[in-house]
Amino acid sequence: MVEIERHEYDVVVIGAGGAGLRAAIETRSQGLRTAVVCKSLFGKAHTVMAEGGIAASMGNVNSRDNWQVHFRDTMRGGKFLNNWRMAELHAKEAPQRVWELETYGALFDRTADGRISQRNFGGHEYPRLAHVGDRTGLELIRTLQQKIVSLQQEDHADFGDYEARIKVFQECTVTELLKDDGRISGAFGYWRESGRFVVFEAPAVIVATGGIGKSFKVTSNSWEYTGDGHALAMRAGAALINMEFVQFHPTGMVWPPSVKGILVTESVRGDGGVLRNSEGDRFMFDYIPEVFKDNYADSEDEADRWYDDPDNNRRPPELLPRDEVARAINNEVKEGRGSEHGGVFLDVATRLPAEKITQRLPSMYHQFKELADVDITAEAMEVGPTCHYVMGGVEVDPDTAASRVPGLFAAGEVAGGMHGSNRLGGNSLSDLLVFGRRAGAGAAGYVTSLGIRPSIAESDVDVAARRAQDPFTASSQPVGENPYSLHAELQQVMNDLVGIIRRGQEMRQALEKLRDIKDRAQHLAVEGNRQFNPGWHLALDLRNMLLVSECVARAALLRTESRGGHTRDDHPAMDAEWRRKLLVCDLVADRVEVVEQLQPPMRDDLLELFKLEELRKYYTGEELGDVQVGEI
Ligand code: FAD
Repeated sequence: MVEIERHEYDVVVIGAGGAGLRAAIETRSQGLRTAVVCKSLFGKAHTVMAEGGIAASMGNVNSRDNWQVHFRDTMRGGKFLNNWRMAELHAKEAPQRVWELETYGALFDRTADGRISQRNFGGHEYPRLAHVGDRTGLELIRTLQQKIVSLQQEDHADFGDYEARIKVFQECTVTELLKDDGRISGAFGYWRESGRFVVFEAPAVIVATGGIGKSFKVTSNSWEYTGDGHALAMRAGAALINMEFVQFHPTGMVWPPSVKGILVTESVRGDGGVLRNSEGDRFMFDYIPEVFKDNYADSEDEADRWYDDPDNNRRPPELLPRDEVARAINNEVKEGRGSEHGGVFLDVATRLPAEKITQRLPSMYHQFKELADVDITAEAMEVGPTCHYVMGGVEVDPDTAASRVPGLFAAGEVAGGMHGSNRLGGNSLSDLLVFGRRAGAGAAGYVTSLGIRPSIAESDVDVAARRAQDPFTASSQPVGENPYSLHAELQQVMNDLVGIIRRGQEMRQALEKLRDIKDRAQHLAVEGNRQFNPGWHLALDLRNMLLVSECVARAALLRTESRGGHTRDDHPAMDAEWRRKLLVCDLVADRVEVVEQLQPPMRDDLLELFKLEELRKYYTGEELGDVQVGEI
């Protein structure tokens, strides 16, 4: 019998990134005893890596900005596949969440007249990203942590215990969600350092575990991004939606190999940087899709004038949504106009004075100097697409972030719907705060309205403990598989066969290979014991990566159109019929099943924010039949 540590809370938040921390602040503020569990060190969540900024239509730099424009941009960016209610709430509430951060102590960069500065970003009509140089995520996490510490100080004053109502369990990985009669009853996990098991009893769990990038070989994502929350929720009975939509950020480092995939922030282009191919051409002018032609400049002169006079000129095509730019770069390289190491050139050196570059992009300057020995104030960077963000995730109620499993909530990158088929830069940090808060409120409402609380069956704990130890028992078998080799194989499959450009035949191959890896993963063998054992940690994470990878591949194979972060070489056009459909991944008898589900039609007052000509590019004639649309 294994010894198991136990804790009892009202709410367990899994994840201490922006979404998890904002959710925890909410549940604690509503008086609920809250545990925050994170597998990394507190403060080291992926959110820290966010660079460019947080999108909110405060209108500080261009007073024409407002929530309606932000809503429109978000829907356009997602190619109208977004959950429109989430996009509406997000656009309306993002400014309040940014101002609230200031009350927690955030120090944003300022405009000359002292307001929060806002910068341009791809797909955003006006300068909209509040920022702290190119280290915005760090400030966001610092501030949310500070708020938590201040709440703990209040609790100390009231109860003589800092952790009376909110406690952080860091370097603790959750491997199972527990249920009682269909409702969430808690979570099971292990301490990374000691390997000891731990059970959290709680009627509500908020998953805020971030993304899935570590299933791909080239990625900007940190080590934590193994799709744990996606898989935990799915195994507990929640549905995943939009899993075919994976964002490849256009600009990751391509050289040297050890840093391939590390992000080069979009702020470089937002602040004036341009993309050129090996022939020196500013090639993005050749890639402006029909649906965006009215909004993007078709000459370098106009594009350059836009930086100083955005009201009378159209935007540079380098600021098209990310999916468009990533595909364009991919194509330039494929056509033989790439850089020496398989990317293209991103030039800010000839566009801005050196001191401005080091002031506005300090992290980029250091990143290139230290990792690639490139001085970005003097020479161009080499960049190429990198797996960056998953639009797909747990299907949630937009207002409360509740999944279909009673007691299970999801917020942040692990939740699906908000960004449709493609996320705009800056819209994640705002999403974390808007829906982190809503998930906290949703969970608080659920817990306070509960009668009898669910309880945890000992047999479920035993099963969870046995599963977690499987990799040790398999090591005695002759066919023991190495978790590192299987992970590398998985990443290669996803990169090569379910990557930025997809083909039906290749995805079928990918599914065969995934099945093979999954079979072999039954025989994962890990040496040693549970005390800090990274091989064991990876073996457990692999289970999750394999499940989410299968969802991505299956949904991508089914969606026979190209839209946002899903590009089919064999179905290159966008199809209005497909816009009406979501692909929903379910686990049925341990098998992934993907079914179609119709999108709820957009509310009329929101539809009226668009011009009919624009809607016609996305909607079917049948849907638009009697719609009255506006001329805003
Ligand atoms: P995270 O911040 O990743 O937090 C996840 C948490 O879950 C972590 O604490 C982790 O330890 C924990 N966790 C995971 N699995 C488990 C488990 N099994 N058990 C316990 N804990 C677990 N977006 C923007 O809007 N603006 C930007 O400028 C921007 N820049 C970016 C730059 C980079 C380099 C990258 C990679 C992304 C950027 N993004 C940006 C995207 C954005 O940073 C992320 O989408 C966002 O931070 C995700 O936040 P989150 O709270 O959902 O998850």
